[in-house]
Amino acid sequence: MQKIEHIGIAVKDISSANAIYTKLFGTPPYKTETVESEAVITSFFKSGPNKIELLQAMNDESPIAKFIEKKGEGIHHIAFAVDDIFAEINRLKSEGFIVLNETPKKGADNKLIAFLHPKSTNGVLIELCQEIAQ
Ligand code: ZN
Repeated sequence: MQKIEHIGIAVKDISSANAIYTKLFGTPPYKTETVESEAVITSFFKSGPNKIELLQAMNDESPIAKFIEKKGEGIHHIAFAVDDIFAEINRLKSEGFIVLNETPKKGADNKLIAFLHPKSTNGVLIELCQEIAQ
C-alpha cells in the first residue's frame, strides 16, 4: 500500500460542487468522467500533489445515492495507490479484511479498483487503486 491517491467526496449535485471546488482550489476539474458500473458521475481536482474526486449518483441504485441517503454529503472514501492490486487483495483478505469486489474493476481516471468494506476498517471505505498501464 502506498500514498493516498485521492479522497472521494459524495455530492448531491456535481455542477454546483464543481463550482465550489473550483473556487476552493482556484482551478477547474482536470477531468470529468462517468463510471457506468458504479452509476456515478465523477470529477477530479488537483491541489498540489493531492487529488480530490467528487462523486454524484446517476440513479437511486448507485452506491453514492445510498451513502447520501444514510449519511448525507461528505467524505465517502480514501483511495490508496497500490503496485499490484491482485497481490494486495490477496494479502488483505488473508489479514481478515472484507474485500467488496475480489476481482478488481475499472474505475474512473484509468484505474483498476477494489474496495474494502468499512465494517473491517473502522467505518472508513478504503479504495485500492492501480494505474492501468497505457
Ligand atoms: Zn475513488
